[in-house]
Amino acid sequence: METDLRVGQGWDLHRLVEGRPLVLGGVAIPYDRGLAGHSDADVLTHALIDAILGALGAGDIGTLYPDTDPTYKGASSLAFLREVVGRAARSGRTVVNADLTVVAEAPKIGPHRDAIRASLARALGVEAARVSVKAKTAEGCGSEGRGEAISASAVVLLAPAGRRGGDHQ
Ligand code: MG
Repeated sequence: METDLRVGQGWDLHRLVEGRPLVLGGVAIPYDRGLAGHSDADVLTHALIDAILGALGAGDIGTLYPDTDPTYKGASSLAFLREVVGRAARSGRTVVNADLTVVAEAPKIGPHRDAIRASLARALGVEAARVSVKAKTAEGCGSEGRGEAISASAVVLLAPAGRRGGDHQ
């Protein structure tokens, strides 16, 4: 029987500015700057949301949660993520796994990796082993390398609910 798997990818970038908290994957990370944006500007969660919406063929985060809507000012992006996971569930789909990469010259993401995985896994409704978070620098090149911005990319696989697959592994 065919298993109707759907893959999606997402990418996002936010500028680093003074006077903002740095939130990645719903986890507050101590740093002297944070990401600029209308919501909490959680670039990693935004990439993951766009990946899920891509797999669903359901548009993008900017269409669903426009930054012109005052409702979303300062909003937690994890709440958006939970809504999008609910949207997937209503269309009969569940997350198999997600693989994410953060590109940041600083701060070091490694010490926060497990907390980020746990946070995103909770919002996705999967165990942390199904969420991968990788961190890279940009070798000093481009906006991320100069510390002007942090970017993130995400790939997610969705399967029909109840047929997530791989549970036997
Ligand atoms: Mg964004």
